[in-house]
Amino acid sequence: MKKLAAFSLATVLCLAQSGARSGIDRSMFDTSCKPCDDFWRYATGAWVDQHPIPADRPRWGKFDELAEANLERLRNILEAAANDRNAAGDRGRVGDYYASCMDTAAIEAAGVKPLQPMLDRIAAIRARADLVALLVSLELEDGLAPARIIDVSDPQNADQVIVGVTAGGLSLPDRDYYFRDDTRSKTIRDEFALHVEKLLQLLGDPRADSSAKAVMEFETTLANATLSNVARRDPYNRIHKTNFAGLALLTPAYDWAAAFDLLKVPRTVAVNVSEPEFLKAFNRQLQDAPVETWKAWLRWRVARARAQYLPKAFYDEWFHFERTVLSGVSQQSPRWKVCVASADGTLGEALGRLYVEKHFPAEARRRMQQMVENLRAALSEELKSAEWLTPETRANALRKLATFDPRIGFPVKWRDYSAVQVTRGNYLASREAAILEDRKHAAAKIGKKLDRTEWSMTPPTVNAYYTSSRNSITFPAGILQPPFFDMDADDAVNYGAIGVVIGHEMGHGFDDQGSKFDADGNLKNWWTDQDRTEFDARAACIVKQFDSIDVGDGMRHTGKLVTGEAMGDLGGATLAYKAYRKSLNGREAPVLDGLTGDQRFFLAYARVWAAAQKPEAVRRQLATDPHPLAKYRTNATLQNMPEFHKAFTCKQGDAMVRPPAEQCRLW
Ligand SMILES: [Zn+2]
Repeated sequence: MKKLAAFSLATVLCLAQSGARSGIDRSMFDTSCKPCDDFWRYATGAWVDQHPIPADRPRWGKFDELAEANLERLRNILEAAANDRNAAGDRGRVGDYYASCMDTAAIEAAGVKPLQPMLDRIAAIRARADLVALLVSLELEDGLAPARIIDVSDPQNADQVIVGVTAGGLSLPDRDYYFRDDTRSKTIRDEFALHVEKLLQLLGDPRADSSAKAVMEFETTLANATLSNVARRDPYNRIHKTNFAGLALLTPAYDWAAAFDLLKVPRTVAVNVSEPEFLKAFNRQLQDAPVETWKAWLRWRVARARAQYLPKAFYDEWFHFERTVLSGVSQQSPRWKVCVASADGTLGEALGRLYVEKHFPAEARRRMQQMVENLRAALSEELKSAEWLTPETRANALRKLATFDPRIGFPVKWRDYSAVQVTRGNYLASREAAILEDRKHAAAKIGKKLDRTEWSMTPPTVNAYYTSSRNSITFPAGILQPPFFDMDADDAVNYGAIGVVIGHEMGHGFDDQGSKFDADGNLKNWWTDQDRTEFDARAACIVKQFDSIDVGDGMRHTGKLVTGEAMGDLGGATLAYKAYRKSLNGREAPVLDGLTGDQRFFLAYARVWAAAQKPEAVRRQLATDPHPLAKYRTNATLQNMPEFHKAFTCKQGDAMVRPPAEQCRLW
């Protein structure tokens, strides 16, 4: 960490214990706004005003600032590897990958040639049998076929990896994009049709406009059979266990036997179909949609999936729709940022390992472990004292809490990329080689015991996550830095920032989704009916709160889409606050920079959510993202917390105080 360089570790620890630095930057405050009117604005307003959204970003906030600093660090690592002739193994691999991405001259010179073999395969389709054979072969290639085989935990026996069959094939961000009839949604669909046409033109399609119409109709038919994002939140809507014969019966027009054989998956392994209605629609399309429609759709999907790795004309068109139309980003990032993100997405743990060696001190991991245990203790006390829980449910909840597996910084076992053949001077081929190995790697897990050490975020990522089937909470090294985690600041700001993140991830174990999985990660009801009714009432309070907020222009959150994340925030802030108070051992925290410990805690929480967003990005988030907007992650959460009201002496009637009867409470 940057700040460490100036001090020895011992000095830093000593400073932290004496609480010499508040860790709060008053210049972020908008003091023209009262904390009890709009706390988010008060705590972050000046910073937001002074940091306009860069033209190459859909939003800009403290999260993004940190992510940007990590990009710079990764760039240095990648450039050094690319320029080192002696770099070998994974370091050589990421260096070559980055160099191939940066070599835009080679990409331009190759034109669409790297795509030609695939286009030829599509053009050669004559009969439906040819079509099915091509779709099966795409099982080894990323994101193209409408239904794909993936590795999933058996919902009833999480330690066992079985076959999952997904619903895909949509190119817009969510199924509702195909149906909403407001003006903005219609414009997006018009832009989408134009985008399909343009990419197909670039591929040399002589009938690009009629192909684009066919693509739109084809995807709308699939979208019609796809679950909404709210319906998908209920795990019971996504669990349909069957076996190979059941799968074949659901989709007789597809050759599952060939697909299983290609991926070397035994037909004896159990199967979970996430959306049976979708598979039926897929089957109908296989039987009824004209072969020419399928061919147009496949050309489009190939162009879409690879546009970012092809000459500039493709990249520009991809960028225009995906980033400008959908998210309001007006300018492309410099090439190096594109290539760093691509390396992180493709060879993430190889690059992440180099990042961790350089930028993640062992001491940070130890301090985090301590905080996780303090939060665990706070939640344990809450569960023990929650009067609404019956003893039976309480015992199950405590067992779940005790088995939470915290994973901090980086995985204990690194992924092996030795089979990935990266070729300098051929970016697309390098990327496809990585995807191919990734698909083989995923398929090889099916039918075996779950490897609980695997991660699904890369170490430099500024984020954290909970996995219900593993009952694990994961904090990548990337987030364990200021403003989330400041090794030499007073405890209040660390509990208010990373402490809330820890509580948030733990809270996911008990949110609308996570509460349906038990301590072993199995989908199993461990609640009595009475407790479940009480829990549902608490969740409904949050749904109602978010449904009622006008976020501007008459736009609203969908309460049922954001409940889980909002429950995580409220539960997380409540627990982190309790853990903070507990850490003081009954003493009052010192006043630093004129702020009490409690005030610093809540200011640190709000600071994490300092951010501004392009209007298009706001719309997209409201339509697709289970996370509420930054402002409401702060304000809606704190409106429910008497601990906050007390810290800033907010009174009933203030905007930051919900009427007591309406205050939502989890613990
Ligand atoms: Zn979350």
